[in-house]
This record gives sequence, C-alpha cells and structure tokens, in this order.
Amino acid sequence: MKVAVIGTGYVGLTTAVALAYLGHEVWGVDVDATKIRDLARGHPPIHEPGLEALLPLVQPRLHFTTAYADAIPGAEVILIAVGTPPGADGAPDLRYVRQAVEALALHLDGAHPVVAIKSTVPMGTGRWVRARIQEIRAEAYEVASNPEFLRQGSALHDTFYPNRIVIGADTPRAVAVLEALYRPLLEQSFPPPKGLPRPSGLEAVPLVATDLTSAELIKYAANAFLALKISFINEIAALAEQVGADATHVARGIGLDARIGPQFLRPGIGWGGSCFDKDTAALLALGRAHGTEMRIVQAARAVNHHQRERIIEKLTRELTTLRGRTVGLLGIAFKPHTDDLRDAPALAIAHRLIQCGAHVRLHDPVALARARREHPELERAYREHPTEVFEEADAVVLVTEWPQYLELPWETLAPRMRFPLVLDGRNVLDAARLTAAGFRYLGTGRCIAH
Ligand code: NAD
Repeated sequence: MKVAVIGTGYVGLTTAVALAYLGHEVWGVDVDATKIRDLARGHPPIHEPGLEALLPLVQPRLHFTTAYADAIPGAEVILIAVGTPPGADGAPDLRYVRQAVEALALHLDGAHPVVAIKSTVPMGTGRWVRARIQEIRAEAYEVASNPEFLRQGSALHDTFYPNRIVIGADTPRAVAVLEALYRPLLEQSFPPPKGLPRPSGLEAVPLVATDLTSAELIKYAANAFLALKISFINEIAALAEQVGADATHVARGIGLDARIGPQFLRPGIGWGGSCFDKDTAALLALGRAHGTEMRIVQAARAVNHHQRERIIEKLTRELTTLRGRTVGLLGIAFKPHTDDLRDAPALAIAHRLIQCGAHVRLHDPVALARARREHPELERAYREHPTEVFEEADAVVLVTEWPQYLELPWETLAPRMRFPLVLDGRNVLDAARLTAAGFRYLGTGRCIAH
C-alpha cells in the first residue's frame, strides 16, 4: 500500500520505518525541513534502539518530504502522527492536527484513502476531522482513530510486537483497510528485523475494533491507568520508608497476583516524558468539560508531582541544608534508551536544587547534546563523563536507570566525594556493593540505609 505518515517524530518515524519494513511504500511528511533533510540522508533525528540500523535497510520504500503534494495523492492510508502538546488549561493543543488536516485535505484525490489519527487526541476529534475534510472537499472521506501505545526507548520493538492494535472507525471499510495495512503485524507473519527478535510465544496480535470515540478514550484510559499504577506504588513506597518495610518486596508480593500484575510497580522518582503528564492533564480537562471529575487521575498526578520534591526533602534531611552543597545527578533523559527530555524529572530536580542554593552536576550517556541545546541555562552543570559528577560532591542521585551506571567503577568513587551519599532513585544499584565501597546508600521505598 502507499501510506502517508504526517509528522516524523517519535511515533511517526517509528511507524513509517516499521511499515516500510513490512513492505509498504511509505511517505513521511514533516513541516520541519531540517528533520526531513537529515532523514533523507539517513540520519535519524532521535535516539531509538534499532532505528539507525533499520533506516538504510528500508530506504528504498521510505521517502521523506516536506511536500504534502508528494505524499498524499495515491495514498491508501494517511496516518496523522503530529504532536498534541498540552494547552493552557491542560486540554491538548490541537493546532498541529488542524494544520495537518487542512494541508492533507487539499491534496486528497479520488482514491478515497482512510485518514487515521495516531496522535493522542480528545474524544470527538475524529468526528471533527471527518467533518472538516468533508467541508473542504465537499465529499465524505473515512476517518479512523488508531491510537499508538509504543514506549520511547523501545519504540521499534513495541511497533513490531504490540500488545494490541486498536482501530476505531464508524465504517467497516475503514476497519478493513487498516486491518490490511497491519496484517503482517496482526499475524506476526514477517521475519523479525535484525536486533529486534520476536518475543517468545507471540503468534498473533489482538485487534480491538471499535467506534471512533471509544478508540480515542482507550488511549487516555491506558495512559491514565499506567500513571496511577506508578503513583500507587510510589505512595506505598513513601509509607514503606516510614514503617521500615521494603516496597520492592511489597511490589513483588502484590504483583504476583494475576489480577494486579508485576509491571509498572517499581518504586522510583515517578513518571516523566511527553505523554503521562500531558495525557492525564487532558483527561482531567476532558472530564471537567463533560461534568465528570476524574478523582483518581487527579490524585495520581499529585503523587507524581511530589516524587520530585521527595528527592529534595531526602537530600535536605541527609545534608542538613542544600545551600552550598554539590549534588550530582546521573541521567537526564526521562527514561533510559531515549534522548527525550520532555518533562524529565532530572531537569525539574536540577532546577529545584539550584533554587535551594545547591551546585548541580548532570550527566547523561545519550541526552547530553540535546540537553545543551534545549536547556542552555544548565550549561555549567553538564559533565561529559559520569565519574565527574562525583568529584567533591555531597550527594549523587541516580535519576535515570541507564545500564551504563551499573558498570561505574563504584569502588573508586566514594573517596572522590566530600560526603559519599548515593540516593538510588530507581532501586537499581547494588546496595551491598556500594556500602562495601564506602557509600551511604539510600534506596527508594526501602528502609535500607547502609
Ligand atoms: P514529536 O513532537 O516527536 O513529533 C511530532 C512531529 O510532527 C514533529 O516532527 C513536527 O515537526 C511534526 N509536525 C507538526 N505539525 C505538522 C504538520 N502540520 N505537518 C507535518 N508535520 C507536522 O511527537 P511524538 O512524540 O511523535 O507524538 C506524536 C503524537 O503521538 C502525540 O499526540 C503523542 O501524544 C502521541 N504518542 C506519543 C508517544 C511517545 O512515546 N512519544 C506514544 C504514544 C502516542
């Protein structure tokens, strides 16, 4: 099929590469000319495992352009994957979706492609898109909701091996066209790309076919549920610290119950990234607009917000004051294996530390260059090598669990600090090893102060 993917960010680019790998003829369109130029030269503008290797492989079937006129005519499916950032009142700012719809509508032809929205958009957006296209073209086009569930850091893996594919449409033809697009994924009938092996036991992917509005709500409900799982275990972790329990054991003890499940129950600094904050805020705004107060979602957001402050509180308790102290932060990206800094806890913590009079040092194995570009106000804090954040520091906080940090020469690092305190914000370091190396180790939700 000829497929146009509008927006070549984390979602659009990953989707375009995967669809080209599956044999489709794919056109990626973006308004960002620099991004398109880099992509056309085979340079991915984002960091995602497997992307750099796969891009040249699919190049013959994958085209990048800034011109809708190249991409839209003749397409059987048009996927909208532009950003939907938060607006002033928490409701998403849909200007990019609107611009994309206006632009694509001008180039639609008689082939009647299905326009599917991958971006996370409020309930009712699909219907609005359908009406707007009809207004511009003076004839009806089919519009579907096809929400995306990939995780940054494993975006390609998640795209090739999704837990489910959701298609929301009001006509059987729209469902059938998208089903045909995704058939190789649904049937898992493609050879796994090199370096992205198929998870064992995965033979087919369930399709959830529903109406437009339900599909739109599925995406918000999924993200809100994941967000509240994280906040739930973090609230239990806060209590565990007070009563002398180990929240990692509590998480295992409850997660083995099949009704609860073990995933997303890791005590830590809380969620970050471009989606959870934005989508939970959107759900609250959508609830308000429809007279439904989303109390659980509201509570999950409040807990998460406080997680970052808890780091400040812990450091203040340990160091008496933060004024004049030096604190190193390991990890800037909001999670490992990505260079995305949107709503990254490390940046919020760094700014709070500076506000409290502390000196900050920051390291990240991948996101440092982006941090320098997007957050020049922290220029003095950036360090090229992780061991530099330990130099004469009063505390080091592990914020992002990059595997590289587990391999640091911990035995040599405590003597380089003024006060050898390590706050393990993700519970990934070896407490016994660090203690033996001379550190005071503090985990999260574990009353194990070594
Ligand atoms: P992104 O910011 O990385 O990419 C969006 C791209 O759209 C940018 O390259 C931008 O230049 C381009 N764009 C904007 N307006 C355009 C237009 N009129 N025409 C063509 N291109 C245009 O965003 P993202 O992280 O890929 O997210 C896209 C959508 O997918 C959002 O709604 C997001 O909520 C949703 N989503 C994201 C993730 C994720 O992990 N990032 C996961 C699931 C769903």
